[in-house]
Amino acid sequence: MSRGPTPGIVTVPGWQCYPWLLAGFSTRRGGLSTVYAGGGPPEQNLGYTPEEDPLQVAEARERLIDALLEARAAGSGGVRPDLITVRQCHSGVVCQVERSQLPLASADGRASLQGDGLYTRDANLLLGILTADCVPVLIADTRTRAVAALHAGWRGTVQRIVERGIGAMSQRFGCRPQDLIAAIGPSIGPCCFEVGVEVREQFEAQFGYGGELVAKVAAQPDSPVRLNLWEANRRQLLDAGLAPSAITLIGECTACTRLDDGRRKYFSHRAEQGFTGRMLSLIGTVAS
Ligand SMILES: [Zn+2]
Repeated sequence: MSRGPTPGIVTVPGWQCYPWLLAGFSTRRGGLSTVYAGGGPPEQNLGYTPEEDPLQVAEARERLIDALLEARAAGSGGVRPDLITVRQCHSGVVCQVERSQLPLASADGRASLQGDGLYTRDANLLLGILTADCVPVLIADTRTRAVAALHAGWRGTVQRIVERGIGAMSQRFGCRPQDLIAAIGPSIGPCCFEVGVEVREQFEAQFGYGGELVAKVAAQPDSPVRLNLWEANRRQLLDAGLAPSAITLIGECTACTRLDDGRRKYFSHRAEQGFTGRMLSLIGTVAS
């Protein structure tokens, strides 16, 4: 049907039992972009990065949505969901969106809303978060079918964007924590995310458990530390009332996970010194 290789998607183990739910994290493999490929096979860049052809991005996003619909066992029911993204700015801002607000983007697909999280209760929308090391967190309410997509880099994490997102869903839609499921997507892991003392101090000041999120890389008091953003966001989900069993950690590090051919499975802003593409994490529902 669609030309070119199949877009790489990581789905959430166990979520196949919700036929109304669409969710997945893109990988680097299976695209049409050559900008960051270094002469290797074309890649799936889903972000409007400065070096990328915007037409390529728009087509890659359509191909990813096709692949997500095809991967869904029950099929799409013939309805194609509309994608909404947001102009991400490392904030703690979450935006409620509705179908009536569409397109919420310019003609070439660039987002018009600004913030770092999206949530909705409308079916046939796909909420998208772009990352290349930052943590994408997807949340679904199995009772009300509200969904959220959140962008939790270290700045968003320290601003408690996950707790804010769940708070907004509860306030707006009456979501209850016992009905929520969440997935923490591919992102820079505790193996690779080294930060300085100023970032460590912000985590220790903001969270009672902040000291548990860092591991020193040397003995000196001002030594850099490795920060565990996966655990930081898992703790926020737990503090919001989710059961441990309702949280899935994909657990793949964007900086060091390699495919069999030795190439990176994901784009990594840090490992590639900022010259890299973006993955797109998607969540939405279809009427069933
Ligand atoms: Zn790593």
